[in-house]
Formats: sequence, structure tokens, C-alpha cells
Amino acid sequence: MRKAISYGRQTIDQDDINSVVDVLKSDMLTQGPKVEEFEEALKNYTGAKYAVCCSSGTAALHLAYLAANIGKGDSIITSPVTFTATANAAMYVGALPVFADIDPDTGNIDPVGIEDKIKYNPSVKAIVPVHYAGFPCDMERISKIALKNNLIVIEDGCHALGAMWEDSEGNWHKVGSSTHSDMTVFSFHPVKSITTGEGGAITTNSKALYERLKSLRSHGITRSAKAFVNGEDAPWYYEMHELGFNYRLNDIQCALGTSQLKKLDKFVIRRSELACLYSNMLSKYPFIKTPATGEKVRSAHHLYPVQICFDELGISKKELFESLKAIGIHLQVHYIPVHLQPYYKKAMGYREGDYPKAERFYKNAVSLPIYPLLSDEEAGAVSEALISTIAYIAAGSLKAARA
Ligand SMILES: *Cc1c(COP(=O)(O)O)cnc(C)c1O
Repeated sequence: MRKAISYGRQTIDQDDINSVVDVLKSDMLTQGPKVEEFEEALKNYTGAKYAVCCSSGTAALHLAYLAANIGKGDSIITSPVTFTATANAAMYVGALPVFADIDPDTGNIDPVGIEDKIKYNPSVKAIVPVHYAGFPCDMERISKIALKNNLIVIEDGCHALGAMWEDSEGNWHKVGSSTHSDMTVFSFHPVKSITTGEGGAITTNSKALYERLKSLRSHGITRSAKAFVNGEDAPWYYEMHELGFNYRLNDIQCALGTSQLKKLDKFVIRRSELACLYSNMLSKYPFIKTPATGEKVRSAHHLYPVQICFDELGISKKELFESLKAIGIHLQVHYIPVHLQPYYKKAMGYREGDYPKAERFYKNAVSLPIYPLLSDEEAGAVSEALISTIAYIAAGSLKAARA
């Protein structure tokens, strides 16, 4: 039997391993030179003025909300089709997540829905668009809405490091350049574009936000004599000015991150080749909708999510998952709509039917394996197995219905 194929995995080569081993042999394992090197590399890649790395994408969201002074009495607007962390970080700071339904073509938050929600929710302080599967949201429209309503924009770019989009004047913007937002948040979990094991980062063009993020990342402590309040000046002296956290990323992780970032564009190209391959094989089947493409975007292809008409086919998603798992192909679903999680139903009174497009999207969503080390042959085998298994289950259920 062939080795199991998961929906996502890391790409680690000898350079990555060497860079980590070098740190392990050095004097500093945390907060040495590798942290700043990685932050420099992130700035250079995205084009943002500042980058702050931290211990996870979730920590990055938490830091971003804190730095933007989002707190008790505030809400953020985000997509129900995201990982729960986007909403959870709002709860961490005492704010509430409000959702706006998606555009089913892309799985991204629909700007029309954002405007609608703002009208009835004066507590909204920030818009948090999620670039679902690595496909950039319409940032021009979202930033216009934010400007008009005096809102902060924090991009959840956890799927989208390496993605780009073209504005109406023909200029290209990298996700992370934060040209149309206050901050962009990334994750370096092993399934994401690049990895540091666990890790995250925030990019911004605001010096004030940058300084706030750095302070909050490390206990709210400053060692800069210029900032001292008590006026003591001694070699051991530091001051804590606000309640921060230990959300630091260490030198071992940052060395891996810098080494990975050098290969990011190659990774994205390989992912887009695989996405093309899948789409060529699958788009001829009327019961499968392949992911959106666009001339004005370069997706990072973090996921390859298809929509399958399970009801019309009369087959169950569970049966499809189990049949493919039996031959070593592990599918996934992105995402169970956040508002339907028991925690949010209880905390905020959300119910089934509140976001019908997101709920329908979830019902039909299947993510096929995609990662740079997946071979063309493996992608071909996944497509063939998907189609033949759907046909097999559908024939079986048709027979059962007739009997
Ligand atoms: C992965 C992810 C996160 C959280 O990142 P972690 O590094 O796992 O904490 C947040 N939002 C989205 C959309 C993600 O995919």
C-alpha cells in the first residue's frame, strides 16, 4: 500500500535542518540574532515596514486585537468560514465576534454583508477578513468600508502568505504588505505556507502598532531607558508598563522560518501547479465545483477545497471520507462554521440558519490533499479515487433506493 496522503504537510530540506542545528550549537536558543533576521526577512518579503513574530497564529491574532485596543464592549466582524482562532482571540480581549456571511464562490467574507452588519452593530470596531484557502479577499472594497465607518482592518492571512492581488489601478499587492489594512496576521503551523513548527507573525506599517505589539509579546516590559517612568537607570533595570504575555518565538524556530521563507515562492508555484492539475481533472464533472480562480489574484493555495453536491448525488460525505481513508487518502473539511460551535451557540445565541451560505458551503466542502511534496501521480490518484468512489457510492445508494 502507498504511504498515507494527508490534506497538508510541511516541506523540510537539509538547509532547514542545518539552520536549526547551527542555532542549537550556538550560545543563544531564544531571542538571539535569529529573531530579528526572520523579522527582516518577513518585512522584505511582504514589503510591510514592520514585522513582529510570535509563538503562533492565534497569539498573533490576540496581540493584534490588543494592540488595536479592541476590548470589552467592542465587536469584530469576521467570516464564519474560518478556524475558530479568528473569533476566539476576540473573546480573549473581552470583545465579541460578529459574523457576515460568505461569497460561496470564494468562501471569503462578502463585503455587502459587512456593510449590512455594521448598520445594526454600533459596537463593531474592526473588520477581520480571512483570505480563505489562500485566495485574497477584496481588500479595496473592505478598506473603503472601513474608512467610511472608521473601523480597523486586521487581515487574517494565515492561509495566504505568498498570495497577491491586483488593485483597480493595476498595482499588485502582497498579502502582508498591509497596504489596505492596519495589520496582517500569519501562522507558521506545519500545514501553512511555511513553518516554524508552531509560530506566527504580524506585519504592519504603523510604528505605534509595532511598538505596542513588541511590548505585549513580552510581558509589557521595556528595557529602553527613554521610556522609563520611575526614572531609575541601572544595568539590571527594566519596567513593566502594561499586562503582556510570553508570546515570543525563539531563535531555533526563527532560523527555520528564515530558511523556509527563501523557498516560499517555489512552494506557492508547486501548490498552484497541483491546483491546476486537480481543476483540469475535476472541472468536467458537473457535481463538483472546483475552487475559484481569478486573473486579479495569485492564491497561495493553502487548501484545495471543492464543493460536492452530496444531496443531489444521494451520497454521504462521511461515507466518502471513510472509503478514501481506507485507501490511505485523508480528506478534510474547512470549516465547520464558527457560529455553530457549541461554545458560540451558548455564548452568543447563534443558531442554525443564521449564516445559510456558510452552512451550505460547509455541507458540501471537501479539502483535497495539497502540499509542495505531493507528486503529480499522487494528485492524479486522489482525483481518480475521488471520482470512482463517488460513482460507486452513488450507484449503491441508487440500488438501495430502488430495492
Ligand atoms: C491556522 C490558522 C490560525 C491559527 O494559527 P495557529 O498558528 O495554529 O495558532 C488562525 N486563523 C486561520 C484562518 C488559520 O488557518
